[in-house]
Amino acid sequence: MSTTFAALAQALAEVGRHCYERGWALGTSGNFSAVVAIDPITVEITTSGIDKGLLEPQHIVEIDEQQRVIRGSGTPSAETTLHLAIVRARRAGAVLHTHSIWSTILSEDTAAGGVTIEGYEMLKGLGGVRTHEHRERLPVIDNTQDWTAAAPKIETMLRTHPEAHGFLIRRHGLYTWGTDLAEAKRHIEILEFLFEAMGRKRGLAWQP
Ligand SMILES: [Zn+2]
Repeated sequence: MSTTFAALAQALAEVGRHCYERGWALGTSGNFSAVVAIDPITVEITTSGIDKGLLEPQHIVEIDEQQRVIRGSGTPSAETTLHLAIVRARRAGAVLHTHSIWSTILSEDTAAGGVTIEGYEMLKGLGGVRTHEHRERLPVIDNTQDWTAAAPKIETMLRTHPEAHGFLIRRHGLYTWGTDLAEAKRHIEILEFLFEAMGRKRGLAWQP
């Protein structure tokens, strides 16, 4: 392993295990990537079918934009096309995807085409947000088992919602990203906190 590849794989594995430990990526759910180079795009990403509680650097591969494995061994995540679409649309340095209980529940709140969060102090943990008065709107997209077909539409959606720090997939989970892995991890923590706060507040009175 090259030093850079190994270090990034180690960091991704740690983030993945952290998400597992918080209950945000149980079993083999969720996938995580970090950008190695932007031109041409190369990313490190988790391979499919790995228990996230047991995630280790050898479960990470480096791929090019055509999803060919450059370093490591294994099959890149089934949602790799989505990670690449986010990297292209957002110039993200890292992309994290979780299947938490609260993001799954709130993703059914599609009446307004997305989930709106406003008025919470924790919003200031999102990149560029300076006040609790910020209004964060996370688009909700339909779930699919064919992300290769869906990715172009999602890339367009990301470009039409340039202010969003993430999006939800209906009854599936959250995608968020950051300029680097540390910021993406912070966004997961902030958004998961806010989802849980909103979900608990609504409680049993809310029927999706
Ligand atoms: Zn998923």
